[in-house]
Amino acid sequence: MVCYVLSNGINQDIIFNMKYRVAIVGAGPAGYFTAQALQKAQTEELTFLIDMIERLPTPWGLVRSGVAPDHPKIKTVSKVFEKIAKENNFRLFANVELGKDVSLKELREVYDVVVLATGSPEGKKLGIQGENLINCISAAEFVPWYNAHPDFTKIPIDLNTDTAVVLGAGNVAIDVARVLATDPKKLDTTDVSEIALSIFKASKIRRVVICGRRGPEHAAFTTPELRGLLNLENTDVYVDHTQINDAITRISKIGLVEKETKNNLEVMKQIANRDRNDFERSIEIKFLSTPTEIRGNGKVEEVVFQENEANSENVLSTNKTFSIKTGLVITAIGYNAIAYPGIEVENGRVINIAGHVRQNIYVVGWAKRGPVGVIGTNKSDSSDVVSLIVSNLTEPRNVSGIDGLLKPGIEVINQLGWEKINASEVVSGELVGKPRIKEDDWDRLINLGTTR
Ligand code: NAP
Repeated sequence: MVCYVLSNGINQDIIFNMKYRVAIVGAGPAGYFTAQALQKAQTEELTFLIDMIERLPTPWGLVRSGVAPDHPKIKTVSKVFEKIAKENNFRLFANVELGKDVSLKELREVYDVVVLATGSPEGKKLGIQGENLINCISAAEFVPWYNAHPDFTKIPIDLNTDTAVVLGAGNVAIDVARVLATDPKKLDTTDVSEIALSIFKASKIRRVVICGRRGPEHAAFTTPELRGLLNLENTDVYVDHTQINDAITRISKIGLVEKETKNNLEVMKQIANRDRNDFERSIEIKFLSTPTEIRGNGKVEEVVFQENEANSENVLSTNKTFSIKTGLVITAIGYNAIAYPGIEVENGRVINIAGHVRQNIYVVGWAKRGPVGVIGTNKSDSSDVVSLIVSNLTEPRNVSGIDGLLKPGIEVINQLGWEKINASEVVSGELVGKPRIKEDDWDRLINLGTTR
């Protein structure tokens, strides 16, 4: 037999028909695309047994609890996830929590490779006075609330105010503003949380103001999301055309400008030039406004802003201020990853080099690169990390996987259990013309997904 050594030092004879056990922690897009890349990387000589471990009783991560309910097309990626899950080298262990039911140390011992795909679940803080007032809520809570995430069903949300302020000029801010300013009847045929839907129907909010601290040319919106605002029925969208024209003048003085920036400004110009319909509901986008204080007597009443001015190089603060009276503030200013014993987080990300954390631990998705990128970004990113994993593989350790680790009493929801939950939600939805009615209660989810 010919025996040769691969570039990573593995003897080719040894890896022949060898299986590597991989644990992926987190069943969101980055986790599924990692599983897919591992499946695609398989050859006759190299195979992977993949266990996906998820804290919630349900998989799909942000596709279930992040994507806005009125964006059903984005959710169709879940069909790809289910195809990945149907492969016979894939197992789901939902309702199993890293750090509670299993430790990272234990996982490292029973898998050849552990991949963290745990996302960035914590909302960033503004760090200004008044941020802790009642009804100043992070999008990291508000979005999962309206998406029926079982951890957020009980957070108090009061929409008994005519004006809401959304801080941040990114896609999450657009989602939140649109959901708040849309006629709730439009959500009737979506999978929005039933609790949220009834609160939206009673909502007094008619004006939503999105506030970005820099200029329109620096906004983090993507063009399709902005364009979506042009198509809103029964909601006016305003942006000050002077702010847009000034931004266009500024970027014309800069040599190289990204295509997305130009496209964004083009759409914002269209928004600015549109006739006003004087609908009852509106969204207004305000730039060059840094929130400096949230005021209120126990509860949000007003946001104070400092006005900024921009030149082609910088955004500078002025000494002018203004304020907006409001009873609800949603902060949509980004997210942070969370640390686990043995895993450190710096600048909101798990410390890593190109996805490698240390030894046999890797990280993908927002936990790796920070909270940037749309769902599809995870595909190439996870694929790059899997290439690194493959090139770093040493001999398989003949390890046993998670089964022996789980203590009696942990009610694991496997793929079959999840399919039962999924089918039940879809059937309940079909009866009333919705894609599904999401179950939002931990116990009921566990009941549906296990045989208990
Ligand atoms: P983001 O795109 O990073 O936007 C965050 C915004 O918050 C920026 O405008 C930022 O301004 C602002 N900000 C940060 N700190 C601030 C502070 N202290 N005070 C005031 N403003 C502050 O984050 P995101 O909106 O959470 O979105 C996260 C990722 O998910 C993005 O890649 C986004 O495209 C993606 N996403 C996609 C979709 C979709 O495709 N449908 C939907 C939702 C989210 P500066 O630029 O000045 O820092």
